[in-house]
Amino acid sequence: MSLLASDYLKLCSSLPESVSLVAVSKKKTLADIRTLYEQGQRDFGENYVQELLDKQGQLPAEIRWHFIGHLQRNKVKAIVPFVHMIQSVDSFKLLLEINKQAAAIERRLDVLLQVHIAEEETKFGLDEKEVFELLEYFEAQKGQLQHVRICGLLGMGTATNDEGQTHKEFARLHALFLNLKAVQFLGQDHFSVCSMGMSGDYKIAISEGSNMLRIGSLIFGLR
Ligand SMILES: *Cc1c(COP(=O)(O)O)cnc(C)c1O
Repeated sequence: MSLLASDYLKLCSSLPESVSLVAVSKKKTLADIRTLYEQGQRDFGENYVQELLDKQGQLPAEIRWHFIGHLQRNKVKAIVPFVHMIQSVDSFKLLLEINKQAAAIERRLDVLLQVHIAEEETKFGLDEKEVFELLEYFEAQKGQLQHVRICGLLGMGTATNDEGQTHKEFARLHALFLNLKAVQFLGQDHFSVCSMGMSGDYKIAISEGSNMLRIGSLIFGLR
């Protein structure tokens, strides 16, 4: 068995059952993705539209592609026909465009709202106030927004060695997730995903309630 496959299986066997794993395959080869696929991995995450389109055309249709990068509205149409979930919704306008393109092909798309929890200014995402605003718009226009389903939240922690800070950021995202689940999404079981944790901080993320990890370099090696 290849080192990639054995490292992957080791990681999988260490994860609690309630936690799902999206293998982040950006900048990784088709061969590496196939290796994981053959070990049973079905969920893969990509950040760039063109790269995703190239790969999707050459890999098994059973793969569930998660879009996790910043998404421009003019690129939505290209991925909506096949993508499993868009995890990086960071504006109401983007949500409207996803709904429009999904409606055009009569499908419904699952999305997550990307919440800005890190200190770094450069990371995309909504702050908490913007999340509530977006949900108000969503509620007000619900009748026209039947082609998207908000299934949870995504957050990226600050790249830091300060574990206390990482704990705090993930705890805060998880609290927001629970709060929304108990109020805005009460009784809506599809609101169920708290996507947090990458190679460097996934253990902390699990301890703070993550149920979906997005791991790249720890599986595939450094990019
Ligand atoms: C690249 C990326 C990951 C994976 O990062 P690693 O540190 O390689 O595990 C996870 N989430 C997002 C949004 C990413 O862009």
